[in-house]
Amino acid sequence: DPRIPAIQSRIRVVPDFPKPGIMFQDITTLLLDPKAFKDTIDLFIERYQGKNISVVAGIEARGFVFGPPIALAIGAKFVPLRKPGKLPGEIISEDYTLEYGKDCLQMHVGAVKPMERALVVDDLIATGGTLCAAMNLIERAGAEVVECVCVIELPDLKGRERLKGKPLFVLLEAH
Ligand code: IMP
Repeated sequence: DPRIPAIQSRIRVVPDFPKPGIMFQDITTLLLDPKAFKDTIDLFIERYQGKNISVVAGIEARGFVFGPPIALAIGAKFVPLRKPGKLPGEIISEDYTLEYGKDCLQMHVGAVKPMERALVVDDLIATGGTLCAAMNLIERAGAEVVECVCVIELPDLKGRERLKGKPLFVLLEAH
């Protein structure tokens, strides 16, 4: 698709952020280009329109940028999956391990109903730990994860293999 190279060109790579040795993929520069940002969202809408998806779950924080416009366009609800201590209602939690340390994602009880069909959206998949925790929350609510959706994949980290056989759709790969 000719839109993809233009999207790729808008993602800034910042060496040594947030610590030495990391090549940070920065999507904020994509958001500065309305055409490239719209093309990004349109590519996702074209894929999921008419697929009977009723939930778009976005992972804090950059899943909150890409998830809501997809949800609005396909007529699905948007469910935020948040870091601990942010959601005011009754929650379920999933702990997961990062390269250094632990983290946790939480979801409101009742936000997702049994048998619903869900997408899980984030900006980037690295090791896959974050998306795996997000999928566990959706599945614990009794819903089905149809696909995980990211703008960027770091395929060298093999995160795809951690997604319990669920499909992953990405627009770009970075190395
Ligand atoms: P994973 O759990 O190892 O797959 O890491 C993915 C999570 O870390 C996502 O929520 C990403 O937003 C974040 N992340 C890791 N590396 C980058 C990066 O280079 N740019 C933006 N986000 C990143």
